Amino acid sequence: MFAMTVRTRFAPSPTGFLHLGGARTALYSWAYARHFGGTFILRIEDTDLERSTPEAVQAILDGMEWLGLSHDEGPFYQMQRMDRYREVVKTMLEQGSAYLCYCSPIEVEAMRERMRALGEKPRYDGTWRPEPGKTLPSVTEGVTPVVRFKNPLDGEVTWVDVVKGSITIANKELDDLVIARPDGTPTYNFCVAVDDWDMKITHVLRGDDHVNNTPRQINILRALGAELPQYGHLPMILGADGQKLSKRHGAVSVMEYPAQGYLPEAMLNYLARLGWSHGDDEIFSMEQFKQWFNLEHLTASAAQFNPEKLAWLNNHYIKLADNERLAGLVRPVLEREGARFEDAPALPGVLALVKDRVHTINELADASMLFYREPKPDAALLEQHLTDAVRPALAAFAERCKDVEWTKAALAAMLKEVLGAHGLKMPQIAMPLRLVVTGQLQTPAIDAVLELFGRDVVMARVAKFL
Ligand code: GLU
Repeated sequence: MFAMTVRTRFAPSPTGFLHLGGARTALYSWAYARHFGGTFILRIEDTDLERSTPEAVQAILDGMEWLGLSHDEGPFYQMQRMDRYREVVKTMLEQGSAYLCYCSPIEVEAMRERMRALGEKPRYDGTWRPEPGKTLPSVTEGVTPVVRFKNPLDGEVTWVDVVKGSITIANKELDDLVIARPDGTPTYNFCVAVDDWDMKITHVLRGDDHVNNTPRQINILRALGAELPQYGHLPMILGADGQKLSKRHGAVSVMEYPAQGYLPEAMLNYLARLGWSHGDDEIFSMEQFKQWFNLEHLTASAAQFNPEKLAWLNNHYIKLADNERLAGLVRPVLEREGARFEDAPALPGVLALVKDRVHTINELADASMLFYREPKPDAALLEQHLTDAVRPALAAFAERCKDVEWTKAALAAMLKEVLGAHGLKMPQIAMPLRLVVTGQLQTPAIDAVLELFGRDVVMARVAKFL
């Protein structure tokens, strides 16, 4: 076996944000190149001038960066490759694989109408297609021609799609595609074919909304004498209800996920499994994914977006994440919520204590907030929990606070002794302590909470209520 250099590309049209389907296509193309030590290319297909925007280009670049899907070549912009496309059009005209067509748009429409009336598929009838011995019509004054590709008349196009298996389309189904408009601008399928050729793409992974374009692109590539890439058309991502993914199912734009407090590794792991499998493995790192990813285990059926699974993975990666890193993500959220950081415990330690049960960075901020605000316990709750039976125990606790070693273990032991001496059970002191120190009844383990707040804060807050 000889080594083949794998070259893949992600070729988004910058007409909106980077959506989950696009990100998954990018991830698979990237992983396939990485698996083989190949090259991953980013190509921006911006020839639709009306719908392409610089903001959408930026949104794509931001999304790729957030996910860490680095490209080795590009970004190439199709609008900057116009000279190259014109050059290829010229060569094809010279070689006879393309021809000038002087039919006006009105004539082409009339042609289609006639075919519809005959119950045929509307297509260009080949009026201007040169054939040996054929006399072409005379040119109408004032018509600027388009350039059409001379699609093979007979036979069929077959490719073995790495996702869908063998696909065959009869050439009769494909008419002579316009590859350059009257003003000389090249058309979509032609640009894609030229780019895939020039960029020596070996594997094209893309959404299955492009299946119909593939036979046209294959015919153009063949006419150019290009080697064909392998194609894989990934099925759509649907909502849990089987409908096309939309806002109703959760955010569709990848960049809404960092805003909602998701970690990129959770999104990557989620997308990796959404359309590909490695046995029963659900949780794996990008290192593993790069090693494992293959085209054999791509799923042929449509994938269903499951926000709960994404949240579950996010919880997993939050638990795994370094607390300093999490602190950098949580701090701005806390600041927005008006957190006070003076005399408060350091954030990484707090996160270590509260992060196990949260699903997002925003939930992590909520769970940390009790350490960063003035406690305002509810009066009725205080009355209920800070009873006359409990007060002496709390006073004893406050006294012992002065010289107890300020560690979780020592605090737990001290609390036990105080309880024993006053004939109380743990909740009877833990609840009022939580209330006066944090303002709420729900907190992580009381000894851990006390340790984090520190001696001075705990003593001051208990003293206030005694
Ligand atoms: N530009 C196309 C899109 O955004 C992708 C084309 C391709 O991958 O060949 O859908």
